[in-house]
Amino acid sequence: MDAQAEVETRDDASSLVQQAQAHLDMARYTPAMELAVRAEALAVAPGVRAHALAVIAACHHRMDRYAQSIEVGLQAVRLWHEIGDLAGESSARSTIARVLILTGDLTESLDEGLIALELAELSGELRPRQLALTAIGIVHLCLRQYEQSMEYCERAAETARLLGDVAVHGSLIDTIACVLMGQAYAAREEGNERAALAYGELAIERAREAMEIGRQAGHRYFQANALGNLAETLAFVGRPEEALAVMGTFQLDPALDAVSTVTHHLDTRGCIHLALKDYDQAARLFAEALELSAGNNAAMSYCEHLSEAHEKNGDYRAALEYHKRFHTLFTLVASEAAQRSAGIAAIRLETSRAQDFAMRERARAEDLYHSNLELTRHAETLLQQSLEDPLTGLANRRLLDRLLATEGSRYSIALLDVDHFKRVNDGWSHRIGDEVLRQLGALLLRAGRASDHAARYGGEEFALLMSDVDDEAAGDVAERLRAMIEAFDWTAIAPDLRVTVSIGVAAHHEAGSPAGLLEIADRRLYEAKNGGRNRVVSASGQSQL
Ligand code: GH3
Ligand code: MG
Ligand code: MG
Repeated sequence: MDAQAEVETRDDASSLVQQAQAHLDMARYTPAMELAVRAEALAVAPGVRAHALAVIAACHHRMDRYAQSIEVGLQAVRLWHEIGDLAGESSARSTIARVLILTGDLTESLDEGLIALELAELSGELRPRQLALTAIGIVHLCLRQYEQSMEYCERAAETARLLGDVAVHGSLIDTIACVLMGQAYAAREEGNERAALAYGELAIERAREAMEIGRQAGHRYFQANALGNLAETLAFVGRPEEALAVMGTFQLDPALDAVSTVTHHLDTRGCIHLALKDYDQAARLFAEALELSAGNNAAMSYCEHLSEAHEKNGDYRAALEYHKRFHTLFTLVASEAAQRSAGIAAIRLETSRAQDFAMRERARAEDLYHSNLELTRHAETLLQQSLEDPLTGLANRRLLDRLLATEGSRYSIALLDVDHFKRVNDGWSHRIGDEVLRQLGALLLRAGRASDHAARYGGEEFALLMSDVDDEAAGDVAERLRAMIEAFDWTAIAPDLRVTVSIGVAAHHEAGSPAGLLEIADRRLYEAKNGGRNRVVSASGQSQL
């Protein structure tokens, strides 16, 4: 693909995913899914691909395809994680948390939601924060931990309000109404009817608020949901006529409304008629809901309501029939849920294995890095050794050359050659010769300053690089060195041993290059030899003992 085409594809994918997200936000899952799938196929940038996967996962979630949602959601999580996008990873994890609520894996959902919240807080972005808070709030609702649920839902609602997202704010107010209804049902179960009614009234208030927000935002799905909840709550507190009137304000449209919305409304109407003791009508509505219902879950609940309606109507045969169907569905749903949980657990395990693998790979790469570092250090040691003369420990010729190349301009060099060294080797031994060279190295180090560099230049030749000296001072240092060597007590090394050196000194300003400088020094060294040895020749002439 050429660069232009690649840019176009990237733009396409990114614009498709934006459109998909917009449909998702308006609960239009079919077009959202289609666009996101196309975006995912085209996406080149990992961020765009992750976003497309996240939208697909969210659509699967809303279309009750839990295993697919989690599988795709985990892919999104991995991608976001790889590119270090905290907000993206957080949002994808919130979707997974929401799905895990539906599959009944509440503990796992809570874990996922809390991780999502942590990532969201780190990202500093409001949207992922709102999604994570919502997921956690709903898990607590399902766990019947109403106080915690209320706390998280309120925080989520406040975050949605800050985001200016009216529809989501409304849906969260509706969730808060559900929390209050949970508290109302719990109070009634405990026989505390006063508390039940008080919670019911609060729920009515919030549901009404939510419905109104949904209506103003033009968000049918949220509006319809809130309306159903409001009617249910009105029936709960003993106001079924009002509930019926509320239901009448919303015209269902199969072209606009999801099947679940339609059946939810039919069921709610049925419950109201049940409260009104209009059992025939209740049974008809439940039967219609059952007919349309898509999943076993909803069907199970409608069968239970049908059984109740027929029982209250005195039709025990029909009541028993629906109870049997309810029971069959209940068993089926339970085993489906168990299988689904197992399947989802397998998917999550596989992913965590993949993550473990990735972590091991990372650790291995780090190990490699560290052993490389060690190798580098070892190589550095070797290099250092190759710049050092093994016999004397002084710099070798190679290092001296490097030092000369980097030295400034005010320096001098003294080249030093042992006089009649052959005689040392021949008269005593090669070992003694080596010992002499080692001692000379030590003397050379002692003669120079800390900033000077002593080097073994060749076999029995040495060099002293003197930084920042004038010619006279350089000559003086060389002379001091010569005298020091002559005066040294060599008999400690071998009886009757005497060692002297000849030295040639040259200054930087005398030559154009280090090579030229060494040449001058070398020439002076041989002048010193020819002049009788044991002497220094420098720019200012010969020094002699
Ligand atoms: P002069 O410089 O005064 O003219 O006489 P010389 O005897 O020092 O001259 P020459 O350069 O001919 O001899 C140098 C000798 O140094 C030859 C070699 O055997 C010896 N030599 C070189 N490197 C080493 C070494 O590492 N150890 C020992 N023991 N001897 C070495
Ligand atoms: Mg020599
Ligand atoms: Mg010599």
